[in-house]
Amino acid sequence: MDFDLPPDLLIHGAAILPFSQASQLIPRGWVSIKDGRLQKVAPGDPPSLSARTVIDGRGCLIMPGLINSHIHAPMSLFRGLADDLPLKTWFEDHIFPAEAKWVTAEFVYRGALLACAEMIRAGTTAFADGYFFEEQVAKAARQSGMRALLSQGTLDFPTPDSPSPEAGLKRIRNFIGAWAGSATVRPALFAHSLYTCSPELLIRCRDLAEELGAPWIIHLSETRGEVDVISRKYGRTPVDHLESLGLLSSNLIACHCVWLTEAEMDLLAERGVRVVHNPESNMKLASGVAPIPDLLKRGVPVGLGTDGCASNNNLDLFQEMDFAAKVHKVHRLDPTVMPAETVLEMATQGGARVLGMEAEIGSLEVGKKADVIVVDLNRPHLQPVYNVVSHLVYAATGADVRDVIIDGKIVMQNRQLLTLNEEEILAEARKWRNKIGSKDSRSPGKSIE
Ligand SMILES: [Zn+2]
Repeated sequence: MDFDLPPDLLIHGAAILPFSQASQLIPRGWVSIKDGRLQKVAPGDPPSLSARTVIDGRGCLIMPGLINSHIHAPMSLFRGLADDLPLKTWFEDHIFPAEAKWVTAEFVYRGALLACAEMIRAGTTAFADGYFFEEQVAKAARQSGMRALLSQGTLDFPTPDSPSPEAGLKRIRNFIGAWAGSATVRPALFAHSLYTCSPELLIRCRDLAEELGAPWIIHLSETRGEVDVISRKYGRTPVDHLESLGLLSSNLIACHCVWLTEAEMDLLAERGVRVVHNPESNMKLASGVAPIPDLLKRGVPVGLGTDGCASNNNLDLFQEMDFAAKVHKVHRLDPTVMPAETVLEMATQGGARVLGMEAEIGSLEVGKKADVIVVDLNRPHLQPVYNVVSHLVYAATGADVRDVIIDGKIVMQNRQLLTLNEEEILAEARKWRNKIGSKDSRSPGKSIE
């Protein structure tokens, strides 16, 4: 008998990809889960099918859940509100006014539930978020069963949840205190960017993050415009500006990092800064192509993110992997510069490092948390299989995910969401669309019943 104790959940008869390398593939095997953790990951058939729940995985692939390292979950309710615009216009004329008008605790909660439903359906088991009323995102994440690093945001000016930065910092302290002991939600701090946060506010964010033992997240060097503004204002490029303030460290998660000099890349590597690559958002807003191959060469931890739905416009990490692999090839005219395995690693183990959870998630290893997805390979666009990693990056979509397990619990089985009321979530999304669409002159297009 191979089992020490009967498992809570057993998945058998499937191929298993424990890590991002195709050479590690187990062509047919089984996985058992006990008390939220992986108990066995083994080839062949299990010695017994006695478990509380048994999933037949024939024709499928068992792999680690994907990790979305940068999103703004509530913005799902702004999906498609403002497209085909440069970042500055998009932000200043559309997103900031829409946020000022519509973002409430209820909006955040409903938007976050919609995001969690979309992410679970597409095989994402963990995500890093940054927004306002973040306790509502936490509530939605807990309800959905998703694992998350959630950061409460602050800016120099009034935000939907705080009249001043002072009140914002207090809110952050309360949020982090309230969620510090949660099993699946880790609280953090979100300083929006260098162009919306003064040096004084950034320093206070760093200090608060260190005091409370939480990481902090920022948008960094996203556009050439940002580099120009920061250089003019402070006489230094964004990364140098942070360095001069003593703010670069392994406790910082920097999203985008599109416009970097060689020296700035060395500095990010030296200081241990964690980076998130958001290729679709960078393409859609024409921000540029981040030098990810050069950062990876320097050993910088890099995760993959979709960014918010207003700049993507979905949270499907399979699609994001496809873009991540291809954009660097065409940008450098070199098809070898970003292999599928590297991209899959960014969406799994890389994301786990960015979230500070690499000891717990990102791969299928005995003792790690059971964040597992089952991908249905028995579909016309996924046959035949020569290299499963190639399929995951270049051929699969989020809709190919059949079952999702997070922290040992099944949250989607046979494409049915078990923790969320999908019908109600979609009805609420339509309600918000009608509210925003009818009163917002910037809203494009016509409503669909
Ligand atoms: Zn963002």
